[in-house]
Parts: sequence; C-alpha cells; structure tokens
Amino acid sequence: MRLYDTVRGEVVPFEPGPEVSMYVCGITPYDATHLGHAFTYLTFDLVIRRLEDLGHTVRMVRNVTDVDDSILSKARELTVDYRSLAAVEMAHFDADMAALNMRPATAEPWATLSIEPILDLIQRLSDAGHTYTVDGTTFFDVSTDDDFGSLSGYDEDTMLALAAERGGHPDDPRQRNPLDFVLWQPSANDEPAWNSPFGAGRPGWHIECSAMAMANLSDTIDLHGGGDDLVFPHHECEDAQTRGATGGLLARHWMHVGMVAYEGTKMSKSVGNLVFVRMLRNLHDPRALRIAMLGHHYRAGFEWFDADIDDGVTRLDRLVDAERRPCGPDPAPTLAAVRAALDDDLDAPTARDAIDVLAGAIIANAGDDPTAPAGLREATGLLGIHLDETPPGDAPSGT
Ligand SMILES: [Zn+2]
Repeated sequence: MRLYDTVRGEVVPFEPGPEVSMYVCGITPYDATHLGHAFTYLTFDLVIRRLEDLGHTVRMVRNVTDVDDSILSKARELTVDYRSLAAVEMAHFDADMAALNMRPATAEPWATLSIEPILDLIQRLSDAGHTYTVDGTTFFDVSTDDDFGSLSGYDEDTMLALAAERGGHPDDPRQRNPLDFVLWQPSANDEPAWNSPFGAGRPGWHIECSAMAMANLSDTIDLHGGGDDLVFPHHECEDAQTRGATGGLLARHWMHVGMVAYEGTKMSKSVGNLVFVRMLRNLHDPRALRIAMLGHHYRAGFEWFDADIDDGVTRLDRLVDAERRPCGPDPAPTLAAVRAALDDDLDAPTARDAIDVLAGAIIANAGDDPTAPAGLREATGLLGIHLDETPPGDAPSGT
C-alpha cells in the first residue's frame, strides 16, 4: 500500500510487518456523532479492511477522551455528571459506528481509566527535564524539544494561531513559551481530581493520547491518525511528549483526514452546522451513507449536500439489484482495480467507480460468467458494504 504521510509530505510506501499497530484519536463523548467523525473513522476502517485483505493482523486502538475541558463544561451546562454524559454519548457513538459497519477497535481505553500510565509518562518527562510546574499546573517546555514543529511543518505564527484556536493558551503568563502546553492541572471544585506527585488534578488533553497509545500498543506504532484539525497542536504535542520520554518516534506514519463542510462552512459545533449520523441512518439504509462518503478522497475533505444521501440510496439499489442477477462479466479485473485503487493512497472514489461499472455491466446482461455477482459482493466487501446482509442498526430500508 502507498499512503500519504503528514511528516514526509508525500505518498510513500506503507509496509508494516504482519501485525500492524494503529492508533486513531477517538471522540470526546459530549455530543452526537456527525459526518466529520464518520468520514474520519470510515477512512481508517478502509485501511484496516485492506490491510486484513493483504493478510495483516491489525490492532487498532481508539481512545475515549472522557475527561477534558469540553466534556466537563458540557456536563456543567447540562447539570449532569460527566461520566453519565460520556456513557450515554458513547452508547450512541457505538450504535452509529456499528450501523456504518465500522470494524470495532481492538481496545478502547478511556482516559479516566488510564490515569496511571498518564502520570507515569508525565513523571518520565519530568525526570528528563521537559516539564515545569507553576501554581499546580505542570507544563511541557517546548524549548527542550529541538524537533517541536517537525510533524506539522508549520511556522511559529501558524502554530500560535492554531494553539489559541484549539484549546491552548499562548497568552498564559505562567508559561515560559507561548507554545508550552498543559500536562497536568488542578481541577475546579466541581471537576474530578486524582492525586498525583504533581498535585491533585486532572490530565491535559494531549498527554492522554500519548500515554494510551504507548500503554495499549507500544512506544513506537506503525500508524497514527485522526482528523486533519488534530495535526496541530494535538498530534504535534503527542509526538513531542513521546519523543521526550523515549527518545524515539511515536508513529512511523501519520495519516490525516480532511474536514467535512455543510452549508458552505466546515462542520463544527460552534457554527452549529452539524449533520448527525443518527438522523441520517434513521431515515435511510446506513449503507447508502457509507456509499455516499466513499465518493470523496479522504485527504480532500468535502461539502455534504442533503441530496448526497439520495445518490447513495440510488447507488445501493443498483448494487443490490446487480448482486441478485445470475451472471455478468468476469469480475477479476474489477477486484484488481478496487485493490489497486485502495493501495494508491486509499482512492475510494476510483474503487467505487470500478464497482459501479461492474454493477452496470451485470444489470445490462453483459457476459455470462456466473461468478460475477459473487465478485461484486467481494468487491463491495473491500469497501465494507455487505450487499447480502441486512444492515445492523435500527434503520428501515431506504431502498
Ligand atoms: Zn488524540
């Protein structure tokens, strides 16, 4: 397989060993799953399916950020316990992922159940001279890391702007450098707190993922990914933390997924233009949603239009129709084309086109090869679409 690597800035061979270790940043469970989440997890699902097709065993770890600023403030707003909020939203997330036929994570560590490895990692960073503590808050000192910025490749102004936008506090006068970030902090009165050598408190966001990746996989993993809004600061900081503690890389390959827009703007909670997976799958066969998203390359991102789901339904109807026919052309070239497209930086749109061409030929009675319908099933299976099964979830058929 060849995949784009964020660090090298180009499409490079991705050649892991028989066992592949993969860490994908999970959700902060304080709201419903939207199409941006679904597109990101679909991307890594396709990687897993193709790697398994190539004979690899994949260990995919996806964390649950069940304690951070956003979930605590939402719990406060709703006057509920943050753990209840997390439990409810995770149940919804799991149902959404199952409906979309995503392969489950091998392990799904929750941050609140990973405090020990988080504190161990902060201790290692402290021992190595990468931290300082002011008023009970322990920061990572980026001046101790010569390679800070090497993952994103961003200049200082860009890093400062993104840090301010995405949870950092460059203006905090307690910080030695504006790009320093929190590893451990005191909790507010109504927030959970854990005892630690750094004082009672709770972890910063970035340290959670480094610690959970290292604890559940290994110090250096094959592939780390997430949405491209995580490149900086989240992944840059994760990378710096692991490097600071182990001297080695956190990941050999970094993969980032483009954002989904709606009504002209990137889908985001603050803009209020979220399209929720649950809403769509309650109205339509969830396979149609998967097919609709497969029409977009993962790195490009895309704008979602309401009519896109209708196109997905039409395409699904055609595939189901073709799969029930007795014969068609030799499906081998289609299977080869689908695999080649996936190996070419996960080119799902080209793979989907190849499958559509085969379905069209079967429906047009072109060819008398009785393996054509089975070949079509196999090809769609590579994209995680099972034509001969009732989809999971509670959705009515949209076909
Ligand atoms: Zn993460």
